[in-house]
Amino acid sequence: MAQHFDYIAIGGGSGGIASANRAAMHGKKVALIEAKELGGTCVNVGCVPKKAMWYAGQIADALKYGADYGFDTTLNHFSWAKLVESRQAYISRIHDSYEKVLGKNKITVIKGFARFIDAKTIEVNGERYSADHILIATGGHPEVPGIPGAEHGIDSDGFFALASQPKRVAVVGAGYIAVEIAGVMQALGSETHLVVRKHGPLRSFDPMVQETLVEIMAAEGPKLHTHAVPKAIIKNADDSLTLQLEDGRHLTVDCLIWAIGRAPATDQLNLAATGVAPDAKGYIQTDKFQNTQVAGIYAVGDNTGRIQLTPVAVAAGRRLSERLFNNKPNEHLNYDLVPTVVFSHPPIGTIGLTEPEAIAEYGESQVKVYRSQFTAMYSALTQHRQPTRMKLVCVGPEEKVVGLHGIGFAMDEILQGFGVAMKMGATKADFDNCVAIHPTSAEEFVTMR
Ligand code: FAD
Ligand code: NDP
Repeated sequence: MAQHFDYIAIGGGSGGIASANRAAMHGKKVALIEAKELGGTCVNVGCVPKKAMWYAGQIADALKYGADYGFDTTLNHFSWAKLVESRQAYISRIHDSYEKVLGKNKITVIKGFARFIDAKTIEVNGERYSADHILIATGGHPEVPGIPGAEHGIDSDGFFALASQPKRVAVVGAGYIAVEIAGVMQALGSETHLVVRKHGPLRSFDPMVQETLVEIMAAEGPKLHTHAVPKAIIKNADDSLTLQLEDGRHLTVDCLIWAIGRAPATDQLNLAATGVAPDAKGYIQTDKFQNTQVAGIYAVGDNTGRIQLTPVAVAAGRRLSERLFNNKPNEHLNYDLVPTVVFSHPPIGTIGLTEPEAIAEYGESQVKVYRSQFTAMYSALTQHRQPTRMKLVCVGPEEKVVGLHGIGFAMDEILQGFGVAMKMGATKADFDNCVAIHPTSAEEFVTMR
């Protein structure tokens, strides 16, 4: 006989844990099934270890700037091993705190890989569990191209498993992960190559952001290789790797990292037994309430093909539990105007429409764009001057702010409050009405003319 629950969440990552905790807080009998480690991608091989590495890069930058602030910054040694040790110790403290909260909420944590038996029943390690409501929050995994020798490269999971710092590294890809890992490796002193198959990285971002990032890369690294389509990877006798490109160019490095996108982890779930039919790429389609085609089965997070960010999975998961278990029938996540940061060097922040998207949606005559560019004071005092650029995209006679974009020092911490303002429908006049905080970079967003 299957052990029965009110709610089972498959996947102990961002979405699953958040939803399970919220359901339990409303008095439900909940089980959480996790095949690997609690915390999922974000905690173990995503946001958290990435941000730790990014902070290390920030410290390397600060050491570089230090001399112009009067510090003798002679650097004797950088220990990759120590950084990894501190990072992993931090992550294990997060595991402990997750276990504590799940325990406090009396959630049954089942360790193992879940497969559906039918729409109400799941099997894990030969045991069966059933529930009135089942959430699929299984996330995704990195993709690797099907070219000869691709297996000699590693992916972002492999990056976090590196025990030592590669001297020469090629990062292949053009999205968040490629830009972030390449930025970290460059800042920490590896000879770093960013290999993109089109004209540049982050093509879906506002052109100002893309162009400024490329300009900063040209000045500070990593070395950008554009229109560079991988053809094969050769492993050499000395263990180095040669990346051969379609056009005959080649590049020899010690480590090659694939960062070409992620695929949903839905293929091993035996979804066929439930009636849930994923799309051609394996994503589970849901309506705005996170309902799948099958009553009582829901999905949130990276496996739904929507915005792949931790707070999105968390917010969707919590709202789902509020709807199901706290009598809030209309509760759902609105996926508009989600703020997002790329932890590049320097960081990028973006909310809403890019300038081209706004023009396509509203027509050129309806769109007014405000810009600001300057050197943040932090680097302006030094010989390593770095540009900051910002843009507001406004529409209509009332100049509603529909897009906000920036690249530069502290952009990661600037963004959140502007996200609140835009969610409230702020106009350019509302921005101007807010008195600036001086001297900061953020003040430029409320003083643009
Ligand atoms: P996940 O967190 O991936 O959790 C899914 C869990 O399900 C996993 O633990 C998996 O083991 C488990 N699982 C899968 N199948 C089964 C099964 N059949 N049975 C049992 N368990 C199963 N987002 C941000 O917002 N900010 C960032 O800075 C950021 N940085 C990132 C950096 C990297 C390198 C990567 C890869 C991602 C990053 N993300 C970031 C994205 C973020 O990690 C994801 O959007 C988020 O983790 C998605 O949450 P989820 O619950 O959908 O899936
Ligand atoms: P992305 O989808 O963001 O980017 C991958 C890019 O790689 C594609 O857009 C494509 O760009 C390029 N690419 C695809 N296939 C190939 C190929 N065969 N060869 C070379 N290049 C290829 O994926 P990521 O893996 O970077 O990140 C996944 C998601 O995780 C992100 O979209 C984001 O939502 C989330 N994330 C969030 C972070 C944050 O919040 N800071 C950090 C990291 C991840 P093009 O078409 O231009 O070549």
